Amino acid sequence: MSDKPNKLIEKGKRLDGRKVDELRPIKMEVGVLKRADGSCYMELGGNKAIAAVYGPRAVHPRHLQEATQVIIRYRYDMASFSVKERKRPGPDRRSIEISKVSREALAPVILKEYFPRSVIDIFVEILQADAGTRTVGINASSVALADAGIPMRGIVSSCAVGKVDGEIVLDLTGQEDNYGEADMPIAMTQDGKITLLQMDGHLTKEEFAQAIELAKKGCKQIYEVQRSALISKYEGVSNV
Ligand code: ADP
Repeated sequence: MSDKPNKLIEKGKRLDGRKVDELRPIKMEVGVLKRADGSCYMELGGNKAIAAVYGPRAVHPRHLQEATQVIIRYRYDMASFSVKERKRPGPDRRSIEISKVSREALAPVILKEYFPRSVIDIFVEILQADAGTRTVGINASSVALADAGIPMRGIVSSCAVGKVDGEIVLDLTGQEDNYGEADMPIAMTQDGKITLLQMDGHLTKEEFAQAIELAKKGCKQIYEVQRSALISKYEGVSNV
């Protein structure tokens, strides 16, 4: 049985009341895990995720070491209870792909040459999913890396844009992703360098340009949330 609504956008408003250029409500908390070197919890609408960073630490097995730079490993995992129908636990093609592209989205900002022969492990657990989970994982990981004190050129921010009922929209829900015309997750650095761009569906050249501009706007807003989450953790911490 399909839960396809007749319209996903009516009079400029989406089914959850947002305008086309609005993000879902965001919550972010830094340093939520005692045993990780850095961690971050993030909510984006119906998505809930946690990122944990360990390292830089020794690489095992040693033959995986790289002599001139740190290795970055990223594991994205969706909990079996995170979706409506129970998801089979463990890695699958989708999670392996998301882990790969998320690692590549973050790697360009990490000063890898600072920690030769070492590894940084990033673990992302999706506790509740409602589309855009890879973007939530990247946003939370970026903050968890900063929380772990990993030297970086900047913070990576990520959001999805897409096309729904013929309009370019920011931050698609599960329903919009399922019944919309296009979904395009993007990640970028603070200065607008794109480190992830994927696309499902179809966009014209003009729509694509419009979508990139909207993603820039979304990422800027997310960056502000990331920044204030980090500041609020370290507020009041004396540097003497
Ligand atoms: P993203 O979560 O990054 O948007 P996808 O586009 O692959 O990645 O997935 C969109 C949404 O579809 C997910 O956020 C989740 O709500 C749902 N989904 C993905 N995989 C499964 C699954 N195995 N079972 C049920 N729902 C799933």
